[in-house]
Amino acid sequence: MDLKVRIIGDPVLRKKATKVENIDDKFRELLDIMTEVMYKEDGVGLAAPQVGISKKFFIMDDGKNLRKVINPEILEFLGDEVIFEEGCLSIPGIFLNVKRPEGIRVKYTNENGEEIEEELHEYTARIFQHEYDHLGGTLFIDKVSTATKAKVKGKIKDLMKEGRKLAKELGELEIK
Ligand SMILES: [Zn+2]
Repeated sequence: MDLKVRIIGDPVLRKKATKVENIDDKFRELLDIMTEVMYKEDGVGLAAPQVGISKKFFIMDDGKNLRKVINPEILEFLGDEVIFEEGCLSIPGIFLNVKRPEGIRVKYTNENGEEIEEELHEYTARIFQHEYDHLGGTLFIDKVSTATKAKVKGKIKDLMKEGRKLAKELGELEIK
């Protein structure tokens, strides 16, 4: 399966993803391919909609652990809101400060079908929240002030043109 990173403007990035039903060898293979794509693109996270698949899963690497996160839920937000600069493989070249809770308590299924519940903080919690947002069709530029967004308006407009064109060529990918 040849996976291409989708760019803002692709409608799949704005869809609400649906639950993953089967975690089998074929699915694990897909996770491996996505992991390769993420590392190749120098990303720290990659959500399924970003490769054209509207399903609830993502991969992330905070520099300590590679996590394969399936059907995640954020159970609780912890600590104060903190500002941190974010970027996104689907919005290349744009980096903006985003305010989010410092910590979260989450639940998800891993690639072996095991239920994981854990508390995440700082950088790990940041990546998780960013990727989790992708599954609901939310992008980090939606979370910044209108004034901040205005500064990158032109750049985003250009990217969206590219993203829409790419979307027409690639379409949405279906998995079982
Ligand atoms: Zn992203």
